[in-house]
Amino acid sequence: MNFDIIIIGLGAMGSAATYQLAKTGVEVLGIDQFSPPHNLGSTHGETRVTRKAIGEGAEYVPLTLRSYEIFREIEAEMDTDLLTITGGLIMSKSSGNANLHGNNGFIETTVSTAKKFGIKHQFLSSDEIAKQFPQFNLDGDEIGYFEDKMGFLRPENCVAAQLELAEKYGAAIKRNEKVLEIKSESDFVEVKTNQGTYKAEKIIVSAGAWIKDFINEPLQNLFKVYRQVFYWFDVADNFENFKLGNFPIFIWEFGRWENDFVYGFPAIDGQFGGFKVATETYLETTDPDKVNRQISQKEIDEIYGKYIENRINNVPNKCLKTATCLYTVTPNARFVIDKLPENERIIVASPCSGHGFKHSAAIGEVLAELATEGKSRIDISAFSFAKF
Ligand SMILES: Cc1cc2nc3c(=O)[nH]c(=O)nc-3n(C[C@H](O)[C@H](O)[C@H](O)COP(=O)(O)OP(=O)(O)OC[C@H]3O[C@@H](n4cnc5c(N)ncnc54)[C@H](O)[C@@H]3O)c2cc1C
Repeated sequence: MNFDIIIIGLGAMGSAATYQLAKTGVEVLGIDQFSPPHNLGSTHGETRVTRKAIGEGAEYVPLTLRSYEIFREIEAEMDTDLLTITGGLIMSKSSGNANLHGNNGFIETTVSTAKKFGIKHQFLSSDEIAKQFPQFNLDGDEIGYFEDKMGFLRPENCVAAQLELAEKYGAAIKRNEKVLEIKSESDFVEVKTNQGTYKAEKIIVSAGAWIKDFINEPLQNLFKVYRQVFYWFDVADNFENFKLGNFPIFIWEFGRWENDFVYGFPAIDGQFGGFKVATETYLETTDPDKVNRQISQKEIDEIYGKYIENRINNVPNKCLKTATCLYTVTPNARFVIDKLPENERIIVASPCSGHGFKHSAAIGEVLAELATEGKSRIDISAFSFAKF
């Protein structure tokens, strides 16, 4: 069967691109090896932080701002709940220089992008943070950046909504079908799956943690996959302090190293749903098909001891549930959104490194423009292969 564009992988990026292409009348086929939204890739776990000022760099801000708009448009069209504004607090040592997502000055860049793009924010001293948010047990040496439009996205709802809309606008969606091979000919690309063969003028590879299956060396070596874990701790006895409306999204860099960092969300599922926290770990790489999805009590105790016990008040060591998730990380944690240097017909989208979701709706639009017009309205030159 012939299509204009085939999209391999229908997670955060692929579902967004399929929706955007279908909406403009392009003949698009989206294929996924599982049935998205699923919990085996990088797009599950109930919530993702979204923020307008971007500490990873000013080049990301147009993507997040456009994504806020698109998510609201989809909510209006689908009557679904995707984006919740809670306000968000980023805390760091006043000495600065904390490393997050490849940037040694994450909070400083957040502030500079907020100023550059006119994003409303406030600075808070340690005393002010302690007064407004007594849930945090501070050292007394923190500075805070508060953005009232920070919030969270519901990743599973976002994927489901965009796929539903894509189908409504005419996209062909193949679930539980695995792409085995892509073969480029002079005027089309052939995609072979475990169930058939399809042809298209262009393909978008948005395969998340499986991206290496579709890229040759040396570019393949840019991508490393790491196992991450979400933890939901019981706050039933102190629910008022953690419930939506009383507790912000938070990102807390309490030291200089990449895992001296914890982030979390309000309890969104009522008194007994728990509040979700996570950190980032880069100790060993993994394979998406073989990753250990069991979480041991030792891991829970370590997370509790390092990130919660002395930092977040009145949370007992009672973990209600956990989930594993995959980061696909490039050097400096930068995104890749580019055509393959050796083949203009193949567009690669790997915007993860732990911070891609908030940008995903706009990345879908960018990918659709790249595939149909060869360029995008939002400048993505910072995310080219040539930057590595
Ligand atoms: C623990 C964790 C926390 C995060 N927190 C945040 C956050 O707070 N804020 C934020 O902005 N971002 C965050 N991120 C990052 C964000 O979630 C990712 O950037 C985003 O989900 C990546 O989407 P993706 O489309 O690239 O990958 P996925 O959503 O995993 O999609 C890839 C898809 O490709 C499919 N696929 C792969 N190979 C094949 C094949 N051969 N055939 C068919 N289909 C195939 C897979 O089945 C999968 O569905 C976090 C990520 C993790 C893991």
